[in-house]
Amino acid sequence: MKDHAGEMYHEVYGPHEFVVLCPSNKDWQDYLIEVGSWMVSSYGATGIYLDQLGPAEPFPCYDPEHSHEGIGRFNQVYLRVLRELLARIRGINEDAFLMIENCGDIYGSYVWGSLTWNGEDYGEFYAEQAQSVFQGRLDRA
Ligand SMILES: [Zn+2]
Repeated sequence: MKDHAGEMYHEVYGPHEFVVLCPSNKDWQDYLIEVGSWMVSSYGATGIYLDQLGPAEPFPCYDPEHSHEGIGRFNQVYLRVLRELLARIRGINEDAFLMIENCGDIYGSYVWGSLTWNGEDYGEFYAEQAQSVFQGRLDRA
């Protein structure tokens, strides 16, 4: 993803820095769907975990080479990824499931679970917040 100045967005998690990939870019969406489906069909994976999907910050994207119009549709387009990936992996294995990092209300109907595990070292406190929202009905590993 690029900001209005044409610079890549970066995020830092603990000791590591990453660039942010554009959820509105169809190439990235297709890549996620293809790799997830391939893991189930080729390796027999039952579950696919999509890291970063739940807590992804919704940046506008100004990259003119991406497939989206305007500044993109932010994280709403991950709904397409989850819907299509879940349908594809369930077509391979009816027990297949998706998981994401942290929580996202809009994603809840497509995921079996959310990992909320990073904690204080990463500046995240989702586990405590999620327990509060769901009134203690969440499993803790
Ligand atoms: Zn983009």
